[in-house]
Amino acid sequence: MTRVSRRRLLGTGALTAAGAVASAAAAPAAAARTAPLGADVVIVGAGLSGLTAARDLAAAGRSVIVLEARERPGGRVYGLPLGDGTTSEGGAEFIGPTQDRIAALAGEMGVETFKTYNEGKNVYYRNGKRSLYATDGLLGAVPPDWGVIDLELALLKLGAMIKEIPVGEPWKAAKAEEWDAQTFYTWSRSNSLSGGARFLMDAFASSTLSMRSQEISLLYLLNYAAAAGNESTPGTIDRLINTKGGAQESRFVGGSQEVPVRLAARLGDIVRYNAPVRSIASTADGVTVTADGVTVSAKRVVVAMSPAIAGKIDYSPGLPASRAQLMQRYPMGSIAKFVGVYDTPFWREDGLTGQAVADSGAIDATFDNSPPDGSRGILMGFINQANIRKLDGASADEVRAAGLASFTKLFGDKAAAPRMTAVQRWDNEMWSGGGPVGIAPPGALTAFGPALREPCGRIHWAGTETSDYWTGYMDGAVRSGERVAREVHAAL
Ligand SMILES: Cc1cc2nc3c(=O)[nH]c(=O)nc-3n(C[C@H](O)[C@H](O)[C@H](O)COP(=O)(O)OP(=O)(O)OC[C@H]3O[C@@H](n4cnc5c(N)ncnc54)[C@H](O)[C@@H]3O)c2cc1C
Repeated sequence: MTRVSRRRLLGTGALTAAGAVASAAAAPAAAARTAPLGADVVIVGAGLSGLTAARDLAAAGRSVIVLEARERPGGRVYGLPLGDGTTSEGGAEFIGPTQDRIAALAGEMGVETFKTYNEGKNVYYRNGKRSLYATDGLLGAVPPDWGVIDLELALLKLGAMIKEIPVGEPWKAAKAEEWDAQTFYTWSRSNSLSGGARFLMDAFASSTLSMRSQEISLLYLLNYAAAAGNESTPGTIDRLINTKGGAQESRFVGGSQEVPVRLAARLGDIVRYNAPVRSIASTADGVTVTADGVTVSAKRVVVAMSPAIAGKIDYSPGLPASRAQLMQRYPMGSIAKFVGVYDTPFWREDGLTGQAVADSGAIDATFDNSPPDGSRGILMGFINQANIRKLDGASADEVRAAGLASFTKLFGDKAAAPRMTAVQRWDNEMWSGGGPVGIAPPGALTAFGPALREPCGRIHWAGTETSDYWTGYMDGAVRSGERVAREVHAAL
């Protein structure tokens, strides 16, 4: 058995790519296939949650091996190749106030932030009519539809309900059963009258979770908003939806993937790629984790991914029913990002932020994804929930045509002729199964919620879905990695 010691991991004192070369990597490939590797902890998944857990456990003196199915780190954080050697954001992108843990990690990795372009007006497209609106008024990012008073009354009610949620443990709310027995759709229909308010509530669910509001437990949505804060600042819907002062306020220089890529490089060869874990066997003494081409024996294992994807691994003995059933009841949203690259961010000259909300077409929300210096224009559109499901099976040309039709409708003819386009379809990604996050339908949280984080013997669970604050976001992923590292360190 080859053991990856802390001394070797830390090398000459720093977690550098060179210093962290594990003995596992030095072993010939054929030997690695037969002889199990050994470590205190094996972490399954090199997304932000798994990498953060590895960082903290190694720093606490534990030997660690990370097994990652893909050929790259980052999971749902991904630099989408544009075909000219550059990348644009294919997955997670934005960071905002109170997202303290991803901010700290990015700072540690030397990755800087810059403000999302937010000068000018937003575009609102509804019932065949395009209009422009400013976002510096009382309504913030909410478009001034006819139903806006109706909407604001509904939002006030939601705000009061959000305050009753024990963050991260929504199943403990006094009205948990009542709220978990309905969808956000049924609640929004019972608490609003106008088409405008109903559309905007659906648009909120779509742009935040990329799931139809018919599929989302009201309790889940309330917790999602309650989690959009930190220990000293309560979460709000405004912080979820706003650019200025909200979750879309800033971006990372060089792209968000710089954070996991640099962290994985520091961890070095303890992170093994192209190693999809197929099975986890637990005994009284430890765990044996079997991936393609490598087997690892360890005292504890951390599964650092969404519950739905964790459910693809074979566990023996079988998991407690609560966890096994949870993994069947936490589906991923459906989402793609479509990107058009232009010589200039031409919408800026037209007085537009590049942000839009639309009720029709493939794209229902857009952002200006240009680089910090605006040296070229990059428009990004979300192809959310039902829209991307409709395009399942469509050819690349058909998706491109649908994406450009939306951009042109929202930003005019100049949008019709980009230099290039690219698309990232998360539903077709085997190791993500959709995005941005796993979502609870009615009944799941009250019946199975505690199983999100509860360890099953030697198996521990991480991933943004397990976080208290900023669940669903990069910040939640980092928080979950930090939490699980403390949990495992204490258990060893
Ligand atoms: C389109 C999109 C837009 C988003 N926008 C934002 C945003 O603007 N801001 C924000 O904060 N968040 C955003 N998010 C959410 C954010 O990406 C996630 O919350 C976060 O990256 C999740 O990290 P994680 O470590 O929990 O999971 P993941 O990133 O999913 O990591 C899990 C890892 O496990 C690996 N894996 C899976 N199965 C196995 C297996 N059997 N064996 C080995 N490895 C396995 C996967 O390949 C993956 O690398 C977005 C997500 C998407 C998809």
